[in-house]
Amino acid sequence: MRTIVQTLPGSASTDKSETGRTFAGVGVSPGRIIGSILLMPQAVREPAVGDRLAEGTSPEEASTALRAAAKAVQTNLTTRSVGASGAGREVLEATALMANDPMLIKAAVKLITTGTSAERAIWDAAASVAEMLHNLGGYMAERATDVLDVRGRIVAELRGVPAPGIPYSDTPFILVGEDLAPADTATLDPAKVLALVTSSGGPQSHTAIIARALGLPAVVAAVGVDALAAGILVFVDGAAGTIMVDPGADEVALANGWATTTAALAVFDGTGRLKDGHLVPLLSNVGGAKDAVKAAAAGAQGVGLLRTEFCFLERDTEPSLAEQVEAYRGVFDAFPGKKVVVRTLDAGADKPLPFLTDASEPNPALGVRGYRTDLSSPGVLERQLAAIALAAEGTEAEVWVMAPMISTAEEAEHFAGLCQAAGLQTPGVMVEVPSAALTAASILGHVDFVSLGTNDLTQYAMAADRQLGPLASLNTPWQPAVLQLIRLTVAGSRDEGHDKPVGVCGEAAADPALAVVLVGLGVSTLSMTARALSAVAAVLASVTLIETQGLAALALTAHSATDARRIVREKLPILTELGL
Ligand code: PEP
Ligand code: MG
Repeated sequence: MRTIVQTLPGSASTDKSETGRTFAGVGVSPGRIIGSILLMPQAVREPAVGDRLAEGTSPEEASTALRAAAKAVQTNLTTRSVGASGAGREVLEATALMANDPMLIKAAVKLITTGTSAERAIWDAAASVAEMLHNLGGYMAERATDVLDVRGRIVAELRGVPAPGIPYSDTPFILVGEDLAPADTATLDPAKVLALVTSSGGPQSHTAIIARALGLPAVVAAVGVDALAAGILVFVDGAAGTIMVDPGADEVALANGWATTTAALAVFDGTGRLKDGHLVPLLSNVGGAKDAVKAAAAGAQGVGLLRTEFCFLERDTEPSLAEQVEAYRGVFDAFPGKKVVVRTLDAGADKPLPFLTDASEPNPALGVRGYRTDLSSPGVLERQLAAIALAAEGTEAEVWVMAPMISTAEEAEHFAGLCQAAGLQTPGVMVEVPSAALTAASILGHVDFVSLGTNDLTQYAMAADRQLGPLASLNTPWQPAVLQLIRLTVAGSRDEGHDKPVGVCGEAAADPALAVVLVGLGVSTLSMTARALSAVAAVLASVTLIETQGLAALALTAHSATDARRIVREKLPILTELGL
């Protein structure tokens, strides 16, 4: 069990007038914890174009300063890599190597000799090296990101400001920042980070998804929280969505209580069911084989969403057939005899894949993303389906396939045709766009199942960017309008003589109270981060099907998202008992 009160050596002493000051945000991952905060540094500003050496600084002095900065960055990253594990370690090792790369330093020094400042020189040199690596393609192209990462670190070192990315500390801390980017997560060490708190970001933002996947308490959209000083002691309540400065005895008791609850909630017996025995299979969302192994160990009854784009994030080129087969088979092998729903590449918006998406689109969330990239990059989808079919051969997993961002029945029909041509027997589509919810009956005339992506369905129904903190109160699947779209999807699945399964794989499924409502609305399976399985299972087991239907009716007719959540939560006392 984790120690719940953590302080950093040399913690900032709290200004006593701040004691008890509370910030309110949106709770996105439950948990109560006390710890000292560390702040996510600001992104490194680009040095001015044409920035020259300061008067009195010789090119030799500037070159020596640059070499020293590069060496310091390398030493720091190497030291950190020793204490890291898995993907985080690999990222740190690769970046450390790049920090003192002779070709990079030589190119920068050459620019310094022409009078360019050290900061601008490393900036431009890194841009040229990155472009060269990019043009080489394959593995070398992957290294382009590392070069751009180290250039920010070297510039920060030259300026004497904190390095970008997740800060480093020997002792555990609560990470506070504006928001986290997907790339930050590779170096986020769950053994060091006690909780995540951001001043921006919505309930469906990356910070929220990462926090739930790691089982870390998290609060987003807590305006002003990033102005607190590093080292201050705070109490974070991830269910209530609050952060209290310099907590007292009551909060210490609450944090201790949570530590006991998490230990008790750690187990899921592998069968999702209601109090009356009605079965609700609980599946897991995964981004690759490692997640799948963890999900299987946590008792997941299958995979409800394999986000295949997560296998290839930051890839500049289309992965080969062999690479794809390996990535997918790793997931299938973790679930013999169980269902694995593979989602075809969902590139775009917050998940750009350089080989598929156009970074210059004015509105990426409304642009050529998800299934629509089949229009701009024909062939990629067919090759991916062929890879899925090949990976499925000889495994015991029951492989289903679905397309993201489907808007019309024609798209569903086209996708089903491609699946059939690839020999994939069970095609489905995601319902993430309101038009798909409204036309579910005709969509299901072409495919075998639908899965509700409530993260995007909410952002499109409410016209509220899922990544924007100021819109967090709009951007919640508790919105009665979103619940109505879910109800209509289920109704469509039972229309026109068919009775086809409707799952949910958006984050809504990981909220135990909302999971109850979803079952009441007629959803048949729920897929979530493996960490949420036990809490969702415990709450579902406390209600009967009739009760879920009653709660769904109350939520649907509530006046607002806040009312819907409050009314349902009040009727589920188990949530308070468990601190959820
Ligand atoms: C969703 O939109 O709910 C979903 C599951 O897809 P993603 O979060 O990957 O966009
Ligand atoms: Mg989506």
